[in-house]
Amino acid sequence: MATTQQIPSFDLKRNYKRVEDEIKEALESVLASQHFIMGPDVAAFEQEVASYLEIPHAVSCASGTDSLVLALMALGIGPGDEVITTPFSFFATASCIARTGAKPVFVDVHPDTYNISMDLVKAAVTDRTKAFIPVHLFGQLCRVEEIVDFLAQRKIALVEDCAQAFGAHRMHEGKIIRAGAWGGLGCYSFFPTKNLGAYGDAGMTTTFNEAHKDRLAKLRVHGATTTYIHEEVGINSRMDAMQAAILRVRLRHIEEWTEDRREVARRYKLLFAEHRLLEHLMPPVEDEGNRHTYHQYVVRTSRRDELHQYLAERGIVTRVYYPLSLHMQPCFASAGYGKGDFPVSEKLCGDVLALPMFPELTADEQEQVVREIANFYK
Ligand SMILES: *Cc1c(COP(=O)(O)O)cnc(C)c1O
Repeated sequence: MATTQQIPSFDLKRNYKRVEDEIKEALESVLASQHFIMGPDVAAFEQEVASYLEIPHAVSCASGTDSLVLALMALGIGPGDEVITTPFSFFATASCIARTGAKPVFVDVHPDTYNISMDLVKAAVTDRTKAFIPVHLFGQLCRVEEIVDFLAQRKIALVEDCAQAFGAHRMHEGKIIRAGAWGGLGCYSFFPTKNLGAYGDAGMTTTFNEAHKDRLAKLRVHGATTTYIHEEVGINSRMDAMQAAILRVRLRHIEEWTEDRREVARRYKLLFAEHRLLEHLMPPVEDEGNRHTYHQYVVRTSRRDELHQYLAERGIVTRVYYPLSLHMQPCFASAGYGKGDFPVSEKLCGDVLALPMFPELTADEQEQVVREIANFYK
């Protein structure tokens, strides 16, 4: 076991090196201003995200989780309501629903893209369904076009969980539609490891609807419209100026970094073919029309745990997203779901493995990863 060098699953330090001077300059200016919560950098970042996504309004907040909670609060969702979502996602996708007092209703996912099945969503709608949260998992969009009209007819709100999909889009009727731009609310996270990451927590909600924008802007500052006058009880979820200044720098590079990630994905696929690994593991499937941004590079294999261990022993860090389907989380036990309810999601939890993926991953490192995977299957 001649381990040459550790290969991390992601490496923020390498990315920092690419923008260090710009970041320091941006932070110096915030320090000079001594303006730390919201303010000009936050407002400018909101504008820049809105223009990048081509959505009229972007309202910042303190995290991706808060963005989801604020979106549901802005829609007035609460006890007695049902919100449909996927069981194969990060915890916050479902916890935001429970936070409002509404009931999370899960439906299963596609075994190839790991994204939610729109047919199953339609079948799960009841009189109490008030919203639907699709998750654009690992950096590729769901087939939202299959359901937008259906939702509109039934007045069911669309809240896209775009936490993993900054820069991702989908072609629809000859047009580019970005994550968060399908006509409802779009919820973004700038957690440090996301494709567009801050150096702390931060989030953003996008909308075409001016009334929703105003409601979001109010709810994030304790429900206040003018200082010390509270029309309703909101939360404290403001973006801080240092994060905004950092994000403004990083947004200028996001296209380049996204292309780097896509190149890493292309190389993995070529290497798998070269080493005849495609009979042993399934690489990510890009749904037609999608620009996949490879937030994660997730493969499927029936020998996941063994492979994970084998690679770890050789200095290669891989991760499992996600080991437990959300319907099996102890905190959602009262919803009455059990083992076997969502067979695809449950199976994925045992099969998926995220390989090292970040813009700066080198071709040599990728070759080392794939060589070790090939050794494992020999
Ligand atoms: C990261 C993430 C969130 C939550 O974002 P935070 O900024 O960490 O609060 C929500 N949903 C998904 C799918 C995520 O990956």
